[in-house]
Amino acid sequence: MDSKLLDQVVSVLASSNNTVVVTGAGISTEAGIPDFRGEKGIYRTMGEDRVMSIINISTFQRDPKRFYEFYRQVFDFPPVEPSLAHKMLADMEKKGRVKAVVTQNIDGLHEKAGSKNVIAVHGNADRFICTRRRCGKYYSSDLVREIKEIVPECPECGGILKPDVVLFGEPIQGYIDARERIMAARVLVVIGSSLTVYPLAGFVKEFSTFYQDLIIINKGPTHMDHAALVKIEVGDSSTGKILQEIDRRLG
Ligand SMILES: [Zn+2]
Repeated sequence: MDSKLLDQVVSVLASSNNTVVVTGAGISTEAGIPDFRGEKGIYRTMGEDRVMSIINISTFQRDPKRFYEFYRQVFDFPPVEPSLAHKMLADMEKKGRVKAVVTQNIDGLHEKAGSKNVIAVHGNADRFICTRRRCGKYYSSDLVREIKEIVPECPECGGILKPDVVLFGEPIQGYIDARERIMAARVLVVIGSSLTVYPLAGFVKEFSTFYQDLIIINKGPTHMDHAALVKIEVGDSSTGKILQEIDRRLG
């Protein structure tokens, strides 16, 4: 860890009364969740077009069996515990150092770690929703995992259950909320995202054209490194350890 860079981050955060954090896959790989867009990720091995042709709303509606055969194999991860980084962010929120987390991840780990103010723009795979509009009940993934049929049905009304995640062809969740949160931030900290996925990457870009206080903590380069006030390369360390050290220096 570069001590000087950490000091710079600490002084920026210390004077901020509205720090918003944006997280991507990088924070969840530290909890053991595969990065779908990473080198061995499903998007690379199968090809993004193929994944998109199944994980999309019209396949779900037309052929839920085909959708679920794939979904259960790839996206239905077994229960995973939050990483140190998730826990640090929850802790920093409790101390008033972080106002909100906007995440692209669908694993629900921020909530599980105790973060209260989370906007999950791609939804949460931990939850399923009944597609019968008049029912609309939510179920936990634990409960759905116990259903033996490939296509899970609502125990109440028999409607098909849909993972509460944003499929291709669907609008993201909390679009306006996420954008407002980011644009109102005094300091924006991007963690574990190379900032390639829109619209979140667009919000960060928009923020950085109006303000300067963009901090990036990531393994490898991102599309916004040039605009960052401080970029911290995770390297052989971990995001969790870096956040722990920042929090410690904040006193
Ligand atoms: Zn139902």
